[in-house]
Amino acid sequence: MTKRAYNFNAGPSALPYEVLETAQKELLDFQNTGMSIMEMSHRSATFEEVHNGAIERLRKIYSIPENYEVLFLQGGASLQFAMIPMNFLQEGKTASYIQTGSWSEKAVKEAKLFGNIATAASTKENKYRNIPSIQEITWNEDDAYVHLTSNNTIFGTQWKVFPDTGNVPLVADMSSDILSTPVDVSKFGIIYAGAQKNLGPSGVTVVIMRKDLLEKENQNIPTMLKYSTHADNNSLYNTPPTFGIYMLGEVLKWVENKGGLEQVAKNNEEKAALIYNVIDQSNGFYKGHAEKDSRSLMNITFRVTDEELEKKFLAEAKAAGFVGLNGHRSVGGCRASAYNAVPREACQALADFMVKFQQDHQ
Ligand code: PMP
Repeated sequence: MTKRAYNFNAGPSALPYEVLETAQKELLDFQNTGMSIMEMSHRSATFEEVHNGAIERLRKIYSIPENYEVLFLQGGASLQFAMIPMNFLQEGKTASYIQTGSWSEKAVKEAKLFGNIATAASTKENKYRNIPSIQEITWNEDDAYVHLTSNNTIFGTQWKVFPDTGNVPLVADMSSDILSTPVDVSKFGIIYAGAQKNLGPSGVTVVIMRKDLLEKENQNIPTMLKYSTHADNNSLYNTPPTFGIYMLGEVLKWVENKGGLEQVAKNNEEKAALIYNVIDQSNGFYKGHAEKDSRSLMNITFRVTDEELEKKFLAEAKAAGFVGLNGHRSVGGCRASAYNAVPREACQALADFMVKFQQDHQ
């Protein structure tokens, strides 16, 4: 294996080494076609097999029910912030948004352009350190939908149980924890995620949508921004990001080979625990941002006791080969993103580094 960095980037982030190796092997000549996957028609049988294979694998891994569409779109999760209300926030209706961080705020900002927004719950006053309890969440039976962010990439919090919104569709931005743990898709109206954390390289956006919602779609919007355009054309209405879809398919094979979502979740729990344990046993030298029961297994956010020492920590960590440990530019501090493809050894190495740094600076 060539030397790989300890990559804790928040996204784009680490991809499985095996997947990169396959991509490298297949780059110049994909399945004896004499060309790379990027150079062939998206209408060719070869590409279609890759495309449909990725859809089928995702269906299988998540046991996605038949009455759900799996769509591959573009524009990132950020375009979904706008497409969802544009399509489903009908005139006179309200959508309820649960605010748990900056990405939820961005989703609200877009939705306000299209209709009435209610706050179903917000943890802003607590500096987004926690996920609201199910009892705190309010919505109305005639809401167009309820929206939440399953994992808050910047603040490092993650939902463990989701609210049951009954007949009101639950919409979830799962950009930063999709494919990290089993999820009962049938509890959701829409799940969406940009690919660049657990799914593959940036460029593809996965949308899993209950088919009956398409009937309520707004008709007076541009073709490309209507979900039915993509659903009716198997996400091949226009040229899709072919390389990204190929990589997504390979990442899904990797998840299958790892033993599926249950095994991946177990690995993620063990990996995150290596770092959280150091924080918890540091007598306050490291301080976790998230409240314990809201902690994310994907993004571990923490601070070092004093700011000078924190700068030193980040500089020394960088020199020691740890990449991406700076917190998001809007909040500062430190953040280790331990997505699916970050190996256990990298988390162990970071945990060891943190212990040593504390010993040297106390
Ligand atoms: N939602 C969440 C939870 C995110 O972490 C991100 C990106 N970091 C986004 C949305 C925005 O995604 P994109 O860059 O794909 O638009």
